[in-house]
Amino acid sequence: MQLYNKLSAKERAALLEEAGEDRLTLSFYQYAKIGNPELFRNHLFIAWDEMEVLGRIYVAHEGINAQLSVPAKNFGKFKEFLDGIYFLENVRLNIAIEHDIKSFLKLKVKVRDKILADGLNDATFDVTNKGVHVDAKTFNELLEDPNTVLVDMRNHYESEIGHFKGAVTPDVDTFRDSLSIIEEDLKDHKEDKNLVMYCTGGIRCEKASAYYKHKGFKRVYQLEGGIIEYARQVENLKLENKFLGKNFVFDHRRGERISDEVISNCHQCGKPCDTHVNCANEACHLLFIQCEECAEKMSNCCSDKCQEIAALPYEEQKALRKGKGNSNKIFKKGRSEVLIYKR
Ligand SMILES: [Zn+2]
Ligand SMILES: [Zn+2]
Repeated sequence: MQLYNKLSAKERAALLEEAGEDRLTLSFYQYAKIGNPELFRNHLFIAWDEMEVLGRIYVAHEGINAQLSVPAKNFGKFKEFLDGIYFLENVRLNIAIEHDIKSFLKLKVKVRDKILADGLNDATFDVTNKGVHVDAKTFNELLEDPNTVLVDMRNHYESEIGHFKGAVTPDVDTFRDSLSIIEEDLKDHKEDKNLVMYCTGGIRCEKASAYYKHKGFKRVYQLEGGIIEYARQVENLKLENKFLGKNFVFDHRRGERISDEVISNCHQCGKPCDTHVNCANEACHLLFIQCEECAEKMSNCCSDKCQEIAALPYEEQKALRKGKGNSNKIFKKGRSEVLIYKR
């Protein structure tokens, strides 16, 4: 039985190129109680390897979170396989509009503690006891209700470039931080307010909604499929679009434009801009918002210091980095004293 990749990423890329076949890039998640994640992992690997599925999949006691690509010719088989697993029957698949045949080069199915890092002791509440899922139309109606509190469950650098009109956007670096802030802010309204949440694709609000229900909130709602699905429904059903700006995404595109408004500013000169970049100094790699003029002036760097380092020959840069480890700015996305216009 083969449980691991035989081909290297390079060999795989060459093969994909050669085959030239259509592949669908898609993602899905599901919270479910999985007794033996190891066994489930092996089951998935064997079946999907045979279907030439590639991607990054996390399996945990609390469920599955998958980003993958499937050969178009095997999609029917793949869907049938999912429907044969009771908690994945008719699971909502987010199919990417951009079909990059080389989006994944390996099949990696990993067992993790959690599918969403949240620092919570899940034994205390039932993560499958989720809030009410609402579609774009119902979501829009809820936003008209004066008793609604709309909360963005994403991090500060995500909501900075785009969010729903009137949403509370906690200034947090992690999902974990936002849970307690919102709980504190709304503690007197557990029964009388509609707590409506959204995130990119739904995985974060789904856990948050179970958490808030456990904490005694009575009217908990989440946007089904997140901003990604909302944008699709608004377009297809010609609904009013209440989202402003860009939806931050975690792949090479970094953001998908949902409306024409630019709601953020270049972190270096302050003019309207919503383009995220990573500092060109590899040792820094800070994620921040930079306009084209500043990118040119600063050689795609976040500071004069990084600009100096990035201009050095590669070997010298490497020598400078030696022994220092990675800068922790990688984890402090968009937060640095050098960015004078960061809100
Ligand atoms: Zn600028
Ligand atoms: Zn930098």
